[in-house]
Amino acid sequence: MQQLIFQITDEKSLGESIHELTDYSVKRRFQSLVFHMYCGPMEKEWLERIAKELGDSFPDAGLMGVSAHAEFYQGHVTEPMVVLSAMFFEQTEVKVYSFPEIMGSEAEAGRKVCALIDETPAVKAAEILVSAAPVDDYVFLQEAQKCRKDVKIFGGYPNGHNMDEDTLNIIHSDGVFQNALVVATYAGENFHIDVARTTGWQSIGREFTVTKAHKNTMIEVDGMPAVKLFEKYLHVLPKDDFTQSTREFPLYIKEGDMTMLRHPLYATAAGELELAGYVDEGMKVLMSYGNPSAIIESVNERCEEVREFEPEAILLYTCTMRKMFWNEFFDQEILPFERIAPSTGFCTGGELDRDLNTGKIMWHNITLLSIAMREGEKKGKDLPGVMIDTSSLQGQVGLLQRLATLVQMTSMELREVVESLQEANYKLQQMATTDELTGLYNRREIENRIMKALDRAQENGREMALVMIDIDHFKHVNDTYGHEAGDQILKDFADIFRKQMDEERGEAVGRWGGEEFFCLMPDISLDEACERTQKMRQAVETHHFPHVEKLTCSLGLIGANGSEDRKLLFARVDDMLYEAKASGRNCVKVWKEA
Ligand code: GH3
Ligand code: MG
Ligand code: MG
Repeated sequence: MQQLIFQITDEKSLGESIHELTDYSVKRRFQSLVFHMYCGPMEKEWLERIAKELGDSFPDAGLMGVSAHAEFYQGHVTEPMVVLSAMFFEQTEVKVYSFPEIMGSEAEAGRKVCALIDETPAVKAAEILVSAAPVDDYVFLQEAQKCRKDVKIFGGYPNGHNMDEDTLNIIHSDGVFQNALVVATYAGENFHIDVARTTGWQSIGREFTVTKAHKNTMIEVDGMPAVKLFEKYLHVLPKDDFTQSTREFPLYIKEGDMTMLRHPLYATAAGELELAGYVDEGMKVLMSYGNPSAIIESVNERCEEVREFEPEAILLYTCTMRKMFWNEFFDQEILPFERIAPSTGFCTGGELDRDLNTGKIMWHNITLLSIAMREGEKKGKDLPGVMIDTSSLQGQVGLLQRLATLVQMTSMELREVVESLQEANYKLQQMATTDELTGLYNRREIENRIMKALDRAQENGREMALVMIDIDHFKHVNDTYGHEAGDQILKDFADIFRKQMDEERGEAVGRWGGEEFFCLMPDISLDEACERTQKMRQAVETHHFPHVEKLTCSLGLIGANGSEDRKLLFARVDDMLYEAKASGRNCVKVWKEA
């Protein structure tokens, strides 16, 4: 494929462009020709003239275009004019469909687009240029996104040169329209397309949850008016000019693995935030900031991917806010792509990109959408590297960069501090609840757990059991082999008892003190508990301990339902343990009501 790009400023350049295109088209064989028109603030009649001339000269070609905040030519933003791209495809079937008026029939238009994508054989991608409000594009996309999940979908919304034009155009071969839609399908086995969103903005601070939202309106986060975010973190009030004051600080939205940015347009007196794009309840939201060097880094990464892809044509649909962010440095974001392949595109009123995991077509803000196209396999071209050099950042952007770096580094340090505090906290908690020698719960923790289990048993009317264990003749071990050997043997005991516990059933064992242990078994009948306790005794009896080889323990068991006097319960199980000792050790004694 081949993309030829022209600047159309007047009759003369229009004539020359058509002449050159005619010349090109008679010399080459091609399957499809599609025109893109990215238009500055032009008279409708002039745009219609261009569309008509193109239609007359190339009746089989598809045509799609939009009003743009800025148009790109040879890697730069041009003076306001029409930039015309002509894409000649050798094998790919490209079809352009126009919907001149979709107001009030957005859902129907969506269903039609869905159907025509699904009905296109070997369709790989679809491009959508669509009007925003008053058109309900949300409803349109809800229907359109029901098409085959493997089709890549990209596109954009028109925008005005001054961003306040009330006529934003969608252009196709039938003319120029305001509440319209134009769709292209790209189909063919040999067609390859790589679409990606690049932002580079970084989230900062804590996460909030969108608790109330409707379409483009974020009503509440964490139950408070959404505007509070900007009041708190940026001191921007509802009456302020959000476009001006929050330009560098869009909202960072997360939904599952998908992240996107949302630029706030204005706030209502009630504290609702009107966003350039939809937001749903349940989405997570954070503040974000643009750090020039981080943004450039992400553009560099994307350029590298595009370079590897070896495209023959590139389209760049990039948010107008990015141009406002960069001012005179904006071209550095688009110029590197031009070094890879002929490129063009425009500054949008919103970028459209499909999340291939969910199939959703989302309206994005502050995004550089790069669309790389190629026919046939990669040829292993050795394209030059296209890294953007950040050392050229000066003046205001330089200041912003240093400030943003300061923010980034300090917040990273803070995050590290928070993480190490969390870790220390975790360790403290571990220490407070576990016995150092054996790693079992300590007395306080197992006692806590027993109390909670008794409460639950009482609530649910369930039976449970408690077991108290004491090692037999342990003093002798210490006296004969030393305290260290004794410690080692205590660890063996801990392992034996731990293995006997079914954690999923809520069973737990703790070290009660010295060579005594306590087990908790919720939801168990006394009969089953008896069996389990005998098993514990046998597990000890058959274990090979270091130094001593054989050791035994004595066990007291009691059933409970939570209604008992707790002190009495512990006294009784202790009695049972004493009875086990008294009747020769290495046995289980069960408390029974007299
Ligand atoms: P009995 O069968 O009647 O329970 O006899 P016993 O020797 O086990 O009972 P006694 O209460 O007389 O001795 C318990 C011993 O446990 C005393 C102490 O040396 C030892 N012991 C308690 N805690 C530890 C410990 O943390 N490490 C070691 N190595 N020994 C401990
Ligand atoms: Mg003891
Ligand atoms: Mg003992």
